[in-house]
Amino acid sequence: MSDPGLAPPQDHLRTSYRHVRDPRMQKVLRVQAALGSAIREYLDGEGFTELLPPIIGPVADPGIRGAKQATINFYGREYKVTSSAILYKQMMAASLGRIYFFSPNVRLEPLETASTGRHLVEFVQVDIEEAGATYEDAMRRAEDLVEHATHGVRARAGGELEAIGRRLNGGGTPYKRISYEEALRILADHGREIPYATEIPWAEEEFLSTRFQAPFFIYDYPRGSRGFYDREHPDRPGILRDFDLLYPEGYGEAISGAEREYEYARVIARLRETGENPSKYEWYLDMLREGIPPSSGFGIGVERLTRYVCGLKTVWEARPYPKVAGVFSP
Ligand code: AMP
Ligand code: MG
Repeated sequence: MSDPGLAPPQDHLRTSYRHVRDPRMQKVLRVQAALGSAIREYLDGEGFTELLPPIIGPVADPGIRGAKQATINFYGREYKVTSSAILYKQMMAASLGRIYFFSPNVRLEPLETASTGRHLVEFVQVDIEEAGATYEDAMRRAEDLVEHATHGVRARAGGELEAIGRRLNGGGTPYKRISYEEALRILADHGREIPYATEIPWAEEEFLSTRFQAPFFIYDYPRGSRGFYDREHPDRPGILRDFDLLYPEGYGEAISGAEREYEYARVIARLRETGENPSKYEWYLDMLREGIPPSSGFGIGVERLTRYVCGLKTVWEARPYPKVAGVFSP
């Protein structure tokens, strides 16, 4: 990451409303648009239906790692602004099979994320879900999508990428896969021990990412580190059928994905275990009671993908009018 980048978050307030006119930013935005087209081309070609994402509702994804949800007053009742459309997409896949959203998310991230270079308060994920797919299928889908996007962008915005001066190491698929336990072992071997069954902290995630030259998966996170909707291995209690994809070179997490819990009784048990009140999830639980098929899916952050493809120092350089934790800006 040799790119000096734009100003750090402190200066962001001063510069952000103008930086859309910066010639370099113009190129980044064209690359981002090209990534969006390449993603749509891939998913539409694979029989996925693009749907409109709900952006407010009675509950949003609680599994957002220390971030808070934004609330709005909806005619006297409380609504959440979408922090992830996970619950909706599971239901939409039950109806239409293969679906995706370009889903705007708002997460009031902790203040310390202003300096990770990886966190925005407002961002867009491409949220994908596929009925009948296992998490192995979802991992293959994720690597195909990233390959298609990173190659497709060259045909569409090669001139801009050239001018930005970024060259990606062509890794090719399949991407390397390491289990959560292996990831913890690598960290421990480098004096970075972290407790089992917790999320991998930002600094450790970045460290792991610097050790790879191409995107790689971490799979089988233990229960306790993830949301209630990631399916537990039926024959390996405590282990979830889920994964992250990490970018190399220190860029960190690209994607989180999983097979879903879809059986009513199991979801209730997982909700209770994570301290959630099932009565808040009435609409979701009603649909589970009627029965839905198994499904798997994942979400990929568009700004982080743009950051990686353009080799940007921070994710807020990959977004017009970025919002960063604690920084009041247009
Ligand atoms: P998550 O549900 O937290 O795993 O988020 C899914 C994907 O959205 C991540 O893998 C990232 O690519 C992206 N993402 C999550 N949080 C943020 C954030 N605060 N800023 C930018 N992108 C994010
Ligand atoms: Mg994640």
